[in-house]
Amino acid sequence: MTNENEGTAAAPLDILPRRCPACHAAPEAGRLMRFGSTAWPMRQCVCGFTYLEKAPAYAELSSNLAWEKTFKQEGERRLREHRVSQKLSKGTRWRMKLFKRLDMPALIAASCTSGDVLDIGCSTGGHLMKLPDGIHPFGIEISQALGEAAAAALAQRGGTAYIGPALDTMQKLETDRFSAISMRSYLEHEAYPDRVLEEAFRILKPGGIVFVKVPNYGSINRMVRGRAWCGFRLPDHLNYFTPDTLTRLAASKGFTVEKPFMWRLPTSDNMWVRLIKKPVATAAAA
Ligand SMILES: [Zn+2]
Repeated sequence: MTNENEGTAAAPLDILPRRCPACHAAPEAGRLMRFGSTAWPMRQCVCGFTYLEKAPAYAELSSNLAWEKTFKQEGERRLREHRVSQKLSKGTRWRMKLFKRLDMPALIAASCTSGDVLDIGCSTGGHLMKLPDGIHPFGIEISQALGEAAAAALAQRGGTAYIGPALDTMQKLETDRFSAISMRSYLEHEAYPDRVLEEAFRILKPGGIVFVKVPNYGSINRMVRGRAWCGFRLPDHLNYFTPDTLTRLAASKGFTVEKPFMWRLPTSDNMWVRLIKKPVATAAAA
């Protein structure tokens, strides 16, 4: 007898072994963390970076584990496993009020009003569509269904959505092209955040800015709630950044990192940073 559900639930995943994205040390060099699972071990490297030592291959992300499908499953799992702490968390939503809501389209609009803007993990393109008229909106989306919807929407504004893994797509884009890049709730999912930041630096115009929003592994809520913290999603979230580890990683790729205190309050589950590609001084031209 066969169970019809077995096909999808038990299908073997294609697995990608990882090293520390920040210093490239082998996983064994780091400490095994209790927030991982047997299938998805989590390490804190000697350099301080926390990450999953395995990742599902990209083919899985574009179909089986696509966000629109896992979001519902994850919510149901959370409710089952953490009913009490979930209620506690909902009861303390006042914490959010301490944190002035940041909005990606508004941040980008305040930094540039023309040129090409790229949103990595653009979903259906909703954020890009809110940008000022002078901006040409481009997105990258790994989910086929979401990417097609985004491409249709962005075409009306002279842009498009590239469907595929971020790194492969970025490698095909022109150097010094974009005025701004948005990485909102994306970098924690990326198997190669170091190489993506390297590419972001290359395709950004001098003076251009990357805005990054990721879960803050250094948040108080993570320390209090442990495994029940909303930032843990195995195996969707591969990287667990703190303001310090994100700063070190981005700075190692050439960025000047700005992280206003109000953008990284330890009372918030998320943090924002601004990565700037400072123009190179041309004094040595003679
Ligand atoms: Zn490391």
